[in-house]
Amino acid sequence: MKAGLVYDPIYLKHDTGGHVENAARLEAIISHLEETGLKKQLTPIKPRAASVEELALVHTKQHISHIQDVAGKGGGWLDADTVMSPDSYEVALYAAGGVIAAAEAVMEGKVNSAFALVRPPGHHATPHHAMGFCLFNNIAIAAEHALARYKLERILIIDFDVHHGNGTQEIFYDRPEVMYISTHEYPFYPGTGSVGETGSGSAKGTTVNIPLPAGCGDNEYLLVFEQVITPAAKRFKPQLVLVSAGYDAHWADELALMQLSVSGFGEMARAIRGLANELCEGRLVFTLEGGYHLSALAASIKATFDVLLGKTSSDDPLGKSPRSATAPKIDRLLTAIKEVHALP
Ligand SMILES: [Zn+2]
Repeated sequence: MKAGLVYDPIYLKHDTGGHVENAARLEAIISHLEETGLKKQLTPIKPRAASVEELALVHTKQHISHIQDVAGKGGGWLDADTVMSPDSYEVALYAAGGVIAAAEAVMEGKVNSAFALVRPPGHHATPHHAMGFCLFNNIAIAAEHALARYKLERILIIDFDVHHGNGTQEIFYDRPEVMYISTHEYPFYPGTGSVGETGSGSAKGTTVNIPLPAGCGDNEYLLVFEQVITPAAKRFKPQLVLVSAGYDAHWADELALMQLSVSGFGEMARAIRGLANELCEGRLVFTLEGGYHLSALAASIKATFDVLLGKTSSDDPLGKSPRSATAPKIDRLLTAIKEVHALP
């Protein structure tokens, strides 16, 4: 199986200083993929800059020129969480263009699946605003591009970042062509993502939120896949699966309070891979969102690539959460979600 890797050193040029979302994240991932011999098993995919027209599939012209202006003036803070350097606008064009390139490579059969290791991340960016470390919504831009270019009718976005992808949800809230399924810690930043947010108009039911209490780990996420994500995806019948892959639900990650392990992320990738194989000839694109504990992030992405390459096992150098015995019960939550979405 051919797994594609989108990466370019340009992604290191979005200089956020001492911010938790910084270039060391990608450096740690790439070093780990090199040291473990995995990188040479991947098919390199060259990213390109997204055009302003492509960004405008999702964002307002005002938002796009605002980001360009801030970069032109030397960068600065856009909100309390989100900072730019002079190169950030160009890097953000390559982040969106990187996910587009990954989707094109998969749609055109050059690789079976791909992972775009890009930054800045994207899932919090709304049509009008940057927020939560995100400038442009990379995965939404790639989804719109794929819908138009390949005349697709149904794309599934699965978002397992520990934060709710409010931007992606907003962009596709009234669009029946894109199903957005998110697992996230709740209540938590950014505050959206309750069970009752299900889409509007003809898109009612194509937003599926799985707001999890703090403390959930491998077992709970597995239940979520079995009971909600798998039946919802099978009913929707996507022609392409895109994944907002954030690794900040790892137990060692200090931005949130979940308890997933590296093996748990590997199992989620396996479940997603299985869905893509069954529903859309394996067409599957991952893109990086969060994940801030460098060795957990690097090992989890390697475990994801192991699955994409068809390997049956991978290492978990960090092991299980020392707190896994304290995971909450989520049966009632899952029953409520199944009821709202009329899932079997
Ligand atoms: Zn996150």
